[in-house]
Amino acid sequence: MQGQDTGARLVDVAESELVTRRGRFRAVAFRDEVDGHEHLALVHGDLGPGTDVLVRVHSECLTGDVFGAVRCECGAQLASSLDAVVTEGAGVLVYLRGHEGRGIGLVAKVRTHVLQDDQGLDTVDSATALGLPVDVRDFGPAARVLRHLGVSSVRLLTNSAAKVDALTAHGVAVTARVPLLEPVDEHNVRYLTAKRDRLGHDLPHLDRVLP
Ligand SMILES: [Zn+2]
Repeated sequence: MQGQDTGARLVDVAESELVTRRGRFRAVAFRDEVDGHEHLALVHGDLGPGTDVLVRVHSECLTGDVFGAVRCECGAQLASSLDAVVTEGAGVLVYLRGHEGRGIGLVAKVRTHVLQDDQGLDTVDSATALGLPVDVRDFGPAARVLRHLGVSSVRLLTNSAAKVDALTAHGVAVTARVPLLEPVDEHNVRYLTAKRDRLGHDLPHLDRVLP
C-alpha cells in the first residue's frame, strides 16, 4: 500500500471550533481525494511539534457509535478515545467514514449480524460466507489529514497491530501503541474473542476471562 497515496491530498477542508460533552475540539472536516468520502478529525489542545501525538483513528460504526449497540465495542472505544485525548491535554481523533463493517458497508454489515445470530458465525466467517472481504479499509485518508495537521509521529490508541502497520505503510510513524481495552460482557464477548483469535488484536483483559 506504500506509495499509493503519494501526492494525494485533501480536496476540500473546513474547520470550526466544536464543543462537545467530552471536551473542546477543533473540527477539521475534509474530503479525501482518493476515497472520495467526507471524514472528520477532532483536534484537542496544542499539538506542539507534532511528534508522539496521542491519536485515535476510528472506523465508522453507525450502530455502535451513534446508537450505542453493544455487540461490538466501537462506541465505547470512541468515547474512551475522546476522553483519553482530553485527559492528555492534546491529541487527535480521526473519524473515518466508509469503514462500516471493516469496509463492506452498512447493509452488508447488518447482513453479517444475521449470520452471527442465527448460525453462530463470527465476524470473519459471516463476511466470507457472504462472499465479502474481511477488511478493505483504506487508512490513507487518516495519514493525509495527520500530515495536514502537522503530525509526523503518533502514539496510536488501538489494540490492532494491523492498524499500526496500515498507518506505517501510509507514512505515519507510530512510536507507541496505546491499548484501548473496554470491559468484556455477555454482549461483546463473541466479537472480542473473534477480534483476538481471528484478527490478531491484543486483548489481555479478555485472556484473563477466556484464555
Ligand atoms: Zn462496531
